[in-house]
Amino acid sequence: MSRLINLLIDPEEASVYDRLKLAAARKAGILPGDITLLRIIRRSVDARQSRILVNISAEVFAGDNPLPVKEPGFIPRNVENSAEVVIVGAGPAGLFAALRLIELGLRPVIIERGKEVPSRKKDVALISRKHLVDPDSNYCFGMGGAGTFSDGKLYTRSKKRGDNTRVLELLCHHGADEGILYEAHPHLGTDKLPGIITGISNSITGAGGIILTGKRVTGIIVEGNTVRGVITGSGEKFLSPAVILATGHSARDIYAVCEKSGIGLEAKSFAMGVRVEHPQELIDKIQYHGTPRGEYLPAASYSLVKQVGGRGVYSFCMCPGGFIVPSATSPGEVVVNGMSPSGRNSPFANSGIVIEIRSEDAGAFSRSGALAGLEFQKALEHEAWEQGGGTQTAPAQRLTDFIDGAASATLPKVSYFPGITSSPLHEWLPEFIGSRLREGFKAFGTMMKGFLTEEAVILGVESRTSSPVRIPRDPATLSHIRVSGLYPCGEGSGYAGGIVSSAVDGMRAAEAVGHIMNSKH
Ligand SMILES: Cc1cc2nc3c(=O)[nH]c(=O)nc-3n(C[C@H](O)[C@H](O)[C@H](O)COP(=O)(O)OP(=O)(O)OC[C@H]3O[C@@H](n4cnc5c(N)ncnc54)[C@H](O)[C@@H]3O)c2cc1C
Repeated sequence: MSRLINLLIDPEEASVYDRLKLAAARKAGILPGDITLLRIIRRSVDARQSRILVNISAEVFAGDNPLPVKEPGFIPRNVENSAEVVIVGAGPAGLFAALRLIELGLRPVIIERGKEVPSRKKDVALISRKHLVDPDSNYCFGMGGAGTFSDGKLYTRSKKRGDNTRVLELLCHHGADEGILYEAHPHLGTDKLPGIITGISNSITGAGGIILTGKRVTGIIVEGNTVRGVITGSGEKFLSPAVILATGHSARDIYAVCEKSGIGLEAKSFAMGVRVEHPQELIDKIQYHGTPRGEYLPAASYSLVKQVGGRGVYSFCMCPGGFIVPSATSPGEVVVNGMSPSGRNSPFANSGIVIEIRSEDAGAFSRSGALAGLEFQKALEHEAWEQGGGTQTAPAQRLTDFIDGAASATLPKVSYFPGITSSPLHEWLPEFIGSRLREGFKAFGTMMKGFLTEEAVILGVESRTSSPVRIPRDPATLSHIRVSGLYPCGEGSGYAGGIVSSAVDGMRAAEAVGHIMNSKH
């Protein structure tokens, strides 16, 4: 029998394998040389006290203990001659739906508006260098969707909607470090994601699935109350008894397509705000109680939340050792987001700080109906673009000036490559957002001493944290409530948010399709 042990040890002991093995052997009461395998089950940093420790749960195998059998990652079936299922969008939802369809013996046909990863890399560089945004190839659109150049935090732990562990296992099968299976805060890093996405797309095409890039879906074919397929901008038709719609929440045009085809939509609450950036050294100092981080501790992060006026103000997608990136999907808008490489080694720490936007804020919206929140989002992104001078330069303000209601005479260096310009965000952010952000920031300053500093800068606007629209579906069949055979999933459906939950949602949609299609044969 293997033994389960718990260790609370110094960061160095936890990081150097021979020292970790020694600590494990001591705890298990055996000799280090007898250990045949040390399998980490969970690992987290405990920074609550001034002495920072690492918590490790592990399984120790020794002597004659049979070693655990490694679960197979992905077992492809040859689906070249199987029934085809159209998937619109190659983000985490679309790609994981495709992997699951293959396991179920169905042939995915993915239609993606953007480009393959290498061409996409050139287009995202153009946004930073030349301020050019290609509406089909950017930080959100293209192979891998918004997941490809994302930060790759995989913190979703809720299993309410499906099997998160399966997503992590599939990511490992396609090249992710196995640490994501046990780290308390698993993170892939923007440098690792493109390779993983390429691995997944190779698995799909290797099994006989089809991935078509550079094709934007502009119409959904509905007859009566049943979906029949999709049509692209060049007029190509793809017919299928089921369509998995996995277009993400930045594809605003698809919502208009849905409205045109009589596919009902609903407004939902969402979140908006700004991105704040501090020197990473400062965040380390606060979170590690002044202890220098050294080589064995990760760049420190934070997670903050405060209720202001009955509404949550909270940090979102905190990126230690990261960069702020231009995430606009159309010309004429400025949208900021964050990411970090796997080493989290930039000198900056950034995070979205957002507030919930609800139906009672509708007074600030320019229109009513299902797309009202989306139009509001769009208008604020356009305002940020104008305030930034009509390029991808982002409007920015020192955090202390924002709180004091003063324009910033100077700005410190930031990680945002297209550049920043001083702008009075306190004046042009809608009052119900700006006032809550101000109160939230003040509260964060008391929770984390040193957070409110002249060295911190806010950039506008952080507007794509969640979808303002839902494509309503039947909870039992996962098909659209009125149009059968249409499976909205992932972030754009309004039922998921983030890489893991979108991937899980994609797999669930595939299972729902498989259930119907395989029972017909
Ligand atoms: C910079 C950045 C950092 C992020 N960091 C994290 C993080 O650390 N952790 C995390 O969990 N999440 C993060 N996210 C969010 C995460 O990437 C998304 O939640 C996730 O990608 C949503 O998956 P999805 O498949 O539902 O949609 P998407 O990833 O948005 O994919 C949708 C795909 O559909 C395609 N498409 C859209 N319209 C059409 C059309 N008409 N025809 C054909 N194709 C179409 C798009 O091109 C796109 O490829 C980040 C996002 C960004 C932008």
